[in-house]
Amino acid sequence: MDQNCEDCRHLWRAYAAATSDYFSVDAQLQAAAGKDNFEAVALLIPRLEASEETKAAVRNALRQHEEETGYR
Ligand SMILES: [Zn+2]
Repeated sequence: MDQNCEDCRHLWRAYAAATSDYFSVDAQLQAAAGKDNFEAVALLIPRLEASEETKAAVRNALRQHEEETGYR
């Protein structure tokens, strides 16, 4: 990444946040499943899916930005 590019820094921060959110929700989901807490599992599955979508969207934005700026 380009340390001097504000967009790169912003996108990488967003990607790191999305990734850490994804793993946090995933860990909560595993814990709930391990305790047979089906109510929590039912709540966490859509959150995990939403988190995965956010992560994918940020990754796409990063790739698009890198194509636009010629950085690889
Ligand atoms: Zn950039």
